[in-house]
Amino acid sequence: MTAGRFAPSPSGDLHVGNLRTAILAWLFARSTGRDFLLRIEDLDRVRPGAQEGQLRDLRAIGIDWDGPFVRQSDRAALYADAVAQLTAAGLVYECYCSRREIHEAPSAPHHPPGAYPGTCRDLTDAQREVRRSERPAALRLRATIGSQTVTDLLHGRVDGAVDDIVLVRNDGVPAYNLAVVVDDAEQGIDQIVRGDDLLSSAPRQAYLASLLRYAEPTYAHVPLALNAGGKRLSKRDGAVTFRELASKGIDVRALILESMGMTSVEDFDPSRLPREPWVFVPPA
Ligand code: GLU
Ligand code: ZN
Repeated sequence: MTAGRFAPSPSGDLHVGNLRTAILAWLFARSTGRDFLLRIEDLDRVRPGAQEGQLRDLRAIGIDWDGPFVRQSDRAALYADAVAQLTAAGLVYECYCSRREIHEAPSAPHHPPGAYPGTCRDLTDAQREVRRSERPAALRLRATIGSQTVTDLLHGRVDGAVDDIVLVRNDGVPAYNLAVVVDDAEQGIDQIVRGDDLLSSAPRQAYLASLLRYAEPTYAHVPLALNAGGKRLSKRDGAVTFRELASKGIDVRALILESMGMTSVEDFDPSRLPREPWVFVPPA
């Protein structure tokens, strides 16, 4: 099977930037004969009712999907299985660091800024014993490379940092990078279209996929929507959700297609997609 997907987090209503990404993911999948799957990424930031609202808005702008959607909260066994495989391969270690400790640690040589400094990578058993009694452990990947190249339909070859990512948070919840990699592979998704804020995550996700012997997917990281001030569009910017815009008489689907120089979905041509962010000024 080949498939594309949209994977919203049910933290609230989708805004036009999210809806535009969803339409793009749908267009990329459908125009290449792929199935289109929907996955609710509800491992954190869930707002009651948000999921229903998101599905309603996706349907309202003409997006359909194949089969029932899946929810990450139903898939714990798959994530545990992946962690077990990595553990058996010696690629997992416990990390006891707080956010602050990571931030304040001197960054290790050859590590990109912001990368995990490796504090807990090589502790002795005795040291682990002590640290374990202080704070519950997260599980990190013992990465064996420092960077990885992926190929993106819009960005070409992209080289990015790979560090010891968190696989399971210290509250026991699977981390985003683990869940997304396992789900994409297990759902047969071979085309990942999403916002370009996640471009820098693609190399580490591709690396994790390779460790789990998953095939590398095709990526297309698409431009985000910005507000008039050049900041990432948010719900604070005014009328930006489907409901808000529709209540002002706006055809949201047409608005989004127009932002990409299209009048109908038949006009879709990946080579002619805008490469710049979409500046969206909400109607008064
Ligand atoms: N759930 C993520 C989000 O809403 C998207 C993850 C992905 O597309 O890989 O930002
Ligand atoms: Zn640590």
